[in-house]
Amino acid sequence: GSHVKNGVPAWHLTSYIAGQPITSQQLLKVHSPYDNRLVGTVTLAGKADATAAIEKALQGGTALSRYERFSILDKTRQLLVERKEAIAQIISAESGLAIREARYETGRAHDVLMFAAMECLKDDGQIFSCDISPTGKARKIFTQREPLSLAVCITPFNHPLNQVAHKIAPAIAAGTPVILKPSEKTPLTAIKLVELLYEAGLPKHMLSVLLGPTAEIAEPLVKDPRVDIVSFTGSVAVGKHIASTAGYKKVILELGGNDPLIVMEDADLDLAVNLAAEGAYRNSGQRCTAVKRILVHESIADTFIQKLVAKTKEYTCGDPANPETRVGTVIDEAAAIYLESVVEQAVAQGARVLIGGKRHGALLEPTVIVNVPRNAVMVVRESFGPLAPVLTFTDIDDAIRLSNSTDYGLSSGIVTNNMAYALRFIRELKVGTVNINEVPGYRIESSPFGGIKDSGLGIKEGVIEAIKCFTYVKTFSLPW
Ligand code: NAD
Repeated sequence: GSHVKNGVPAWHLTSYIAGQPITSQQLLKVHSPYDNRLVGTVTLAGKADATAAIEKALQGGTALSRYERFSILDKTRQLLVERKEAIAQIISAESGLAIREARYETGRAHDVLMFAAMECLKDDGQIFSCDISPTGKARKIFTQREPLSLAVCITPFNHPLNQVAHKIAPAIAAGTPVILKPSEKTPLTAIKLVELLYEAGLPKHMLSVLLGPTAEIAEPLVKDPRVDIVSFTGSVAVGKHIASTAGYKKVILELGGNDPLIVMEDADLDLAVNLAAEGAYRNSGQRCTAVKRILVHESIADTFIQKLVAKTKEYTCGDPANPETRVGTVIDEAAAIYLESVVEQAVAQGARVLIGGKRHGALLEPTVIVNVPRNAVMVVRESFGPLAPVLTFTDIDDAIRLSNSTDYGLSSGIVTNNMAYALRFIRELKVGTVNINEVPGYRIESSPFGGIKDSGLGIKEGVIEAIKCFTYVKTFSLPW
C-alpha cells in the first residue's frame, strides 16, 4: 500500500509466491533517480522462495477456458484504465522518466492487454488433408496449441510497465504460468501490474513475482530444468550469459540495439529532424529501439544539423514530475556519468557538442554531437540515453555498410521518398525491422518485433508471436 510521509507518497510492496505476499525482513529500497527520495520498498525473496514458486506453479490449479483468459486480461485492462494516473506516477517516480512518457506508457500497456485478450478468442489451428499426393490417404492432421508448464520472465528497467505487460499478458493468453523477475531498478510498477492481474481474478498459481539477489533468484530460475522457457529482455551481456547457462529449454532473448536513422539526400528534412529528435530523446533515449546513430547524406548534413539543434531546444529536461518536462533522468547517476564519458571520448577524437551535454546527477541534457568518428565508442556500442550523434555518408552503399557495421541488428528508420532506395534498405539492412519515414521504434503492440545478430536470436515477440513462444504445437490426426 501507499503511505504518505511529509507529503510524498512511498509504496511498500511485497514479492508474491502464487498470490501469497512474502513477509521477509529483507527490504529492497527504491530511490528516485531525480532527487534520491525514497519512493518505496519491496520485501525480498530468497532461494527457498524461488523453489516454492516453481512448485506452486507446477502444482497447478483449474485450467482456464479461452473466455476466462479473455475476461481476466480484459478486466486487467479496465483496472489499468481506472488507475492509470497512479501507475504513471509510480513509473515516473521510480524510473525518473518524465510523467508524460509514463502516461504514454500506460496507453501502450493498455494495448498489450487488449490485443492479448483478443487473441484468447482466436484459434490459429491448422488442418492438413493427407490425400494431396500420390502416396496420400484419406486422413486429416490437425494442430492445436498447448500451454507450457512454466515460464520464467525477466525484464529490464526502461519501460517498467510495458516490458512486463509484454511478457505476462501473452503467457496468460497461452495459459502458461509465469514467475516474473522484474528489474530491481523498477520493481514497484511491475508488482502493481501483478496485483491488478490477481484482482482481475487470475488464479494465483498462474503468477508469482520475485525480487532478490541474482544468485538466489534469477540464476537458479534460469537453470532449473522444470522451467520450460526463459523469456528475457535486457542487455546483450546478460542475454548471452543466460543463453550459456539455461540448458535444455526454450530461450527468448530481446537484447540491446544500436538503431540508425538514415536520412537520404531527397528526404523531407522537417520530417527527418522530427524523427531524429523523437527517436533519440523520447523516454530519455532509453528504448532498445531508440535512434542511437543518425546517419545523414553529406550534401544535406549542414541544414539538417542546424534544424536538429533548433528542434532539440524544445526537449526541456528536468523534474520528471513536471508535466512540461519532456526528458527526465536516465535510470541512475552511474548511467548518466557513463554517457557523459562517451561524449567526452568522442570529443577527444574530434567530435563537437553543438547543444546539451551537461549533466546534473542523473539528468543528462539532450545532446547533439557532430563529426562523430565511425569508431567512437558512443556509436560502436549502445548508448542508452538522450544522445543524438550525427555521422555523414557519401551514397547509399556507404549508408548500408555503415548501418550494418555494428554488432547489433534490432531496427532502423529511413527517411526518403525514393522507392528504389527504400527497397534496397529493406533488402540489405541486417536488422529485424525497417521503417520507412518513421522512427525505428514504430510498431503496434501485436506486430512481430525483435532483432538479429547481438540484438536477439531472430525469434519475434509482439503479442501474437509471444503467445506462440509460450506454447507448443500438438498435432493429432484422424481418419477422414
Ligand atoms: P540488464 O540486462 O542489466 O537487466 C535486465 C534484467 O536481467 C534485470 O531484471 C536484471 O536483474 C536481470 N539479470 C541481471 N543479471 C542476471 C543474470 N545473471 N541472470 C538472469 N537475469 C539477470 O538490462 P537493463 O539495464 O535493465 O536494460 C537495458 C537493456 O535492455 C538495454 O541494453 C536495452 O537495449 C535492452 N532492451 C532490449 C529490448 C528489446 O526488446 N530488444 C527492449 C528494452 C530494453
